[in-house]
Amino acid sequence: MTSIEKFPLHLTNSLSGEKELFTPLSPGKLGLYVCGPTVYNDVHLGNVRTFLSFDIITRYFRYLGYQVRYVRNITDVGHLENDADEGEDKIGKKARLEQLEPMEIVKTYTEGFHEVMRQFNILPPSIEPSATGHIVDQIEITKTLIANGFAYEVNGSVYFDVTKYNQAHHYGILSGRVIEELMESGRKLDSQDEKRNKVDFALWKKASPFHIMRWPSPWGEGFPGWHIECTVMSTKYLGETFDIHGGGMDLKFPHHECEIAQAKGAYGKDPVRYWIHSNMLTVNGQKMSKSLGNSFLPRELFSGTHKLLDRGYSPMTVRFFMLQSHYSSTLDFSNEALQAAEKGFRKLTNALATLRKLEHPGVQELSLELTKDMQRLADECFLNMSDDFNTAKTLAVLFEMASRINDMKSGNARIEQVSVEAFLYFKTTYTGFLEKVLGFQEESEQNDTVLKGTLDILINLRKKARHEKNFALSDKIRDDLKALGVQLKDGKDGEMTYSFE
Ligand SMILES: [Zn+2]
Repeated sequence: MTSIEKFPLHLTNSLSGEKELFTPLSPGKLGLYVCGPTVYNDVHLGNVRTFLSFDIITRYFRYLGYQVRYVRNITDVGHLENDADEGEDKIGKKARLEQLEPMEIVKTYTEGFHEVMRQFNILPPSIEPSATGHIVDQIEITKTLIANGFAYEVNGSVYFDVTKYNQAHHYGILSGRVIEELMESGRKLDSQDEKRNKVDFALWKKASPFHIMRWPSPWGEGFPGWHIECTVMSTKYLGETFDIHGGGMDLKFPHHECEIAQAKGAYGKDPVRYWIHSNMLTVNGQKMSKSLGNSFLPRELFSGTHKLLDRGYSPMTVRFFMLQSHYSSTLDFSNEALQAAEKGFRKLTNALATLRKLEHPGVQELSLELTKDMQRLADECFLNMSDDFNTAKTLAVLFEMASRINDMKSGNARIEQVSVEAFLYFKTTYTGFLEKVLGFQEESEQNDTVLKGTLDILINLRKKARHEKNFALSDKIRDDLKALGVQLKDGKDGEMTYSFE
């Protein structure tokens, strides 16, 4: 029996609001699309949480044995300042303010985004397409939508006709929004407006003479609307219907609702079988936002240079902290919670180091009870992750496993009483879940190797100096290291050991 069969996966589908059994379109394969960042400023922690949630999801699918194609786009055009197709393009505006080319903005912030993803050990997607790389495809689907009667052109811009679409299909199927209510709320259309109805949205916008990013199209020079890029890039690489579409909760409406309408209007099929939405971050119980002054950047969190932080926290501490909550719950940042996360993370990695050294000596006085207990704990890691990716409960099981590991080390639990098979299952599961599924890295590992290597070089130099009776140099090495807190000890046989004070 494979892990895929043994631990059937259930996930909360935002489309139904229910926890559903996941069945892939093709057995053993997963196609996943996640809305990526708009690269016009530094990535904030809310984004990190979203991409971390989908990192865990793809890692777990892979760990179960699925072949995963994970597509996450880069939005480098078309995202306007507000959702009503008004205001400047976010990237265009930044370029104008900083007197740079839009592509300079895009490159700077795409690299910054990748760097932050690396710091948190969030793996790159299989394909990372960009909106500007798919202008032709966006023009093509817009032509199809016009031909299918779901879009219309006015004065060089093209709009999606939501009312017409809703006569044939259901606009609001994902977000639960009702067209009549949307039409009633907010500003009314006036004679200046090009849209037939307030709820309509832009597929293509005519570029004003001052607009920097522009491409030729059958409707004149312009640029694509924001929603259409995701329909194009998801269906191009994953097919007209694919398994999972994810993103932050704030994208459910209008962005994802519009994606469904565009794909269904163009291809006549529901594009996505399961929708997954991750929740928001709060700080000390308040929504994280720039205007409240409580939104901080990853680098401020690492260095502790924000007024709300007592001190800095490492990327893995933050990763651990975020995984203590389910992706669909809100997550609250506080210094106390981060400090507790730091301790918790250390406890799990210390147990990992201990477990690596533990070997099974061969069975003696086999205990069925102990053997079953070890198997149960390993099974529970899978069962919790297969239950809507419950990282919080998985971490709780890993803590229980960490105490067993410490018991085995101290002799309170005897390894030789566990079957070899159960011990190995326990060992590979603890290691695999910590490193591959939850994606933790031992942070001091690299530094330790460098430090150890450097000390070895100095010790060898000192041995050589003593051999050559250059006691002045040999003493200087010893005294300088002592000043740094490293104590050298000379053994009888000329060997040297060191310890930290
Ligand atoms: Zn999107």
